[in-house]
Formats: sequence, C-alpha cells, structure tokens
Amino acid sequence: MPTYSYACSACGHRFDANQSIHDDALTTCPVCESQIRRVISAVGVAFKGSGFYRTDSRASAKRDTTGAAGTPKPKAEPTPATSAVADPV
Ligand SMILES: [Zn+2]
Repeated sequence: MPTYSYACSACGHRFDANQSIHDDALTTCPVCESQIRRVISAVGVAFKGSGFYRTDSRASAKRDTTGAAGTPKPKAEPTPATSAVADPV
C-alpha cells in the first residue's frame, strides 16, 4: 500500500497516510481542517527509480567538495605578515 504525504498550507502541518490507489485523496487538515494538498515526495520517486536519484545526489555532493577545496585562502595570508616584519628593520 503506497504512502502519500500531505501538507497543509494554512498551518504547515505535514503527515503521511497509507492509502490504496483507489481511495479518495484526503482533502482536509486534521489539525485546522483547512484544505490540504498531496505532496509527491522525493522518497517515493527514489523508490521507483533509485538509479536516477542516486546519480543526481552524488553529482551535487562532488560539486560541493570541489568548490570548497578550490578556494586558496590560507596561502595568501603569509604575504602580508612577511612585509610587516620587514618594515621595522
Ligand atoms: Zn492545517
């Protein structure tokens, strides 16, 4: 039985419901009874096509690592320190 995620735009309440595909979608928030919308969660997508989801997350993680390593900030620091020592002499 698939699990559907719902989100209430009025109070922000989120919850999951186990429903048959043939059941009607829930329409009211159990907290404030406002209208809710069904959320297509990323977890559900990954369950059906895990290959695509895994490749996508790994690619973005690699990009983050490269960006952090490519910043040469520590290297620039010794230069001003050397000139400050040379000044009094
Ligand atoms: Zn609500």
